[in-house]
Amino acid sequence: MENLRLPGPTPLPNEVLQALTKQMINHRGPEFRQIINGMTANLKQLFQTENDLFLLTSSGTGGLEAVIVNTLSPGDKVLSVSIGVFGERFASIAEQFGAEVIPLRFEWGKPADADAVRQALQAEPQIKAVLVTHNETSTGVTNDLASISSVVKEFDKLLLVDAMSSIGSINLPVDDWHCDVTVTCSQKGYMAPPGLAMVSVNQEGWQAHSKAKMPRFYWDFTRAKSYLEKGQTPWTPALPIVFALSTSLEMLLKEGLSNIFARHARVSQATREGIKSLGLSLFAQESHASNTVTAVRSSNGLDIKKMLQILREEHKIVLAGGQQSLDGKIFRIGHMGWITENDIEAVISAIKVVLPQAGFKG
Ligand SMILES: *Cc1c(COP(=O)(O)O)cnc(C)c1O
Repeated sequence: MENLRLPGPTPLPNEVLQALTKQMINHRGPEFRQIINGMTANLKQLFQTENDLFLLTSSGTGGLEAVIVNTLSPGDKVLSVSIGVFGERFASIAEQFGAEVIPLRFEWGKPADADAVRQALQAEPQIKAVLVTHNETSTGVTNDLASISSVVKEFDKLLLVDAMSSIGSINLPVDDWHCDVTVTCSQKGYMAPPGLAMVSVNQEGWQAHSKAKMPRFYWDFTRAKSYLEKGQTPWTPALPIVFALSTSLEMLLKEGLSNIFARHARVSQATREGIKSLGLSLFAQESHASNTVTAVRSSNGLDIKKMLQILREEHKIVLAGGQQSLDGKIFRIGHMGWITENDIEAVISAIKVVLPQAGFKG
């Protein structure tokens, strides 16, 4: 078996693999109603929310689009707080649907600065919403969302959060931190396959929704809400992924939120220490290094593509490269979902063997 250490998709435990082989059921019948009601309740525990929560059949990016088109109108000014590839993606979607995006970019590898967010909101009173990525998977940085949120709420703006690679692994109390609309997806920390996005909507989110005029059909939250009241989704859901996620949610809640967060903190700490012990350096500012993905800089002659290839071919370990301008400059180790320190020890030992073969002169 491959040691798949991407920041999603992640390996699946046996119970979850079994769930994927379940026979199809009527998605408008009582069995589905029971499953979706149970899952929604369990997901609310992971989101730490008492507000509405929906399942959407799509990867995470569809979820980002759903957040935008359900809360904004063409011409709305939005502040995009961006620290990497996924922050840019969120902003591009808003722009594509006609929002006027005001970019607030931070150097990749660093977190966003809440004071800079305050200045941007002061400078432009017409801003309606703020887009933030909680955990920037492309750089391995976790934003201080609590501080950013309190600034956004000083100005009473709508807070739209990409929490794809944090909820279920890193603490994000959605209600306490006043996240109005928050989205995540099944292939990140959930020990489930890709195919579902999950989104929570609070009262401010619904208020924005009632005035939002961007075109939408498949993603419409009003439809999602009225169908969920019947124990259904508006459109045929990806049933196998529903079965799998329903199973993995039970496993996660059995472990308990605080244990999950502590395990991810331990595993990420072991990853960072292992990487540094090899003479490599972290891409992320260490104070804000992510507990779900570690990005490592190329240095001392290391050919990252060659290293990833040897790891894959000779050690059955699959890591991720860098995206866009970080291609060839960093590699990323995913450590979210079904993972323990042992999985990371195996990764670090293999990297140690491969480094000299890939040109590293540390
Ligand atoms: C994975 C991810 C997404 C969504 O990517 P998909 O490939 O569409 O699932 C968006 N934002 C972040 C931060 C992510 O990690």
